[in-house]
Amino acid sequence: MKVVVVGAGYAGTTAANRLAKKVAGAEITVVNPRADFVERVRLHQQLAGTGEAATPLTGMLRDGITVRVGSVDKIGDGTLTLTDGDSLDFDYAVLAVGSTVQPLPGTVPVGTWEGAQRARTALAALPAGATVTVVGGGATGTETAAEVAEARPDLRVRVVGPDVAGNLSGTARTRMLTGLAGLGVDVVTGAVAEVDESDGTVRLASGTELASDLTLWAIVSGVPDLAARSGLDVAEDGRALVDAYLRSVSDERVFVVGDVAAVPGARFGCQSAGPQGKHAADVLARLTAGREPAPYPLRYVSRALSIGRKDAVIQFTHFDDSLRKAYVTGRTGTLIKELACRGGKFGARTGITG
Ligand SMILES: Cc1cc2nc3c(=O)[nH]c(=O)nc-3n(C[C@H](O)[C@H](O)[C@H](O)COP(=O)(O)OP(=O)(O)OC[C@H]3O[C@@H](n4cnc5c(N)ncnc54)[C@H](O)[C@@H]3O)c2cc1C
Repeated sequence: MKVVVVGAGYAGTTAANRLAKKVAGAEITVVNPRADFVERVRLHQQLAGTGEAATPLTGMLRDGITVRVGSVDKIGDGTLTLTDGDSLDFDYAVLAVGSTVQPLPGTVPVGTWEGAQRARTALAALPAGATVTVVGGGATGTETAAEVAEARPDLRVRVVGPDVAGNLSGTARTRMLTGLAGLGVDVVTGAVAEVDESDGTVRLASGTELASDLTLWAIVSGVPDLAARSGLDVAEDGRALVDAYLRSVSDERVFVVGDVAAVPGARFGCQSAGPQGKHAADVLARLTAGREPAPYPLRYVSRALSIGRKDAVIQFTHFDDSLRKAYVTGRTGTLIKELACRGGKFGARTGITG
């Protein structure tokens, strides 16, 4: 059985390793644009110089899995084409190409490896007293602002968004804002309309202008158009529609997992990607063994946000991702967040957990 996994993030790597473990004799090829596994959850550390997000794929994939460095251009009828013109046949494919960023001109996106590397270089070149604006009040924005502020206390750092830390609720949100203030991060409420590329001025929809020496785009939105381009049914936001077993509704040979999958109730996150990669492998293993597969169960446990290296807010959730009141912070929160990041990578590398 030939299986091609497209994308070596949390979802794709977990799926490939679990399949190799569970289906003897499966010929598994992983196609990814880089020879590295990128821990996107550490990209804010990568750019602030407080952590490294890339690990060679050779150290992440089980023996026998073939790595093909390249980008898939199109998924066809049992075959897929790469942008370099090559093609690979498959009995099953796993589409795991993640999510994208759509930065405003004049900003540097932090949600991709390339963007984080650019941001790292730009930050290193900033003199003391310079101003960094982080656009995006969600998890990526608040984590990035805190990380930069802690690593470079000589800079002025602000985070701008219509609803900063709005992904938390109640006193957990207040605690997040207190943590940001403690690191000297200014919180500006408003939507960014444009960034003047000549002098870096950030203009809000309200008309307010903010001087900025470096503006980081910390919003992850949208997905690669590979599914749509390949003729698979997609939702309005471009994510591929899947059945209860994480198979494309247009082609049962194509599993879709991670940020690119339109799983009802799921959000972008490695907390979605790992478990979905694991589940797709289990479904395929059961099908090939002639057994009944189980539907994918949505099971979130928390929203975990770092505030630099010494503080964090972990707000617990119900399985459906709705927020509970309970949360932990400080050193305990930091430890839980670090264990979650390491757990995500461990799951990807072994396929044991997702
Ligand atoms: C700074 C930051 C912090 C975050 N923190 C958290 C957190 O604390 N908790 C959490 O749950 N989530 C967090 N996330 C979100 C999380 O990282 C993503 O949701 C997760 O990486 C999605 O996994 P994935 O496997 O679907 O996609 P990805 O990890 O994005 O992997 C997709 C892979 O597919 C490759 N690819 C793309 N197009 C093609 C193609 N055409 N052909 C071949 N390969 C292709 C990409 O290069 C990439 O290697 C964070 C994200 C960022 C940016």
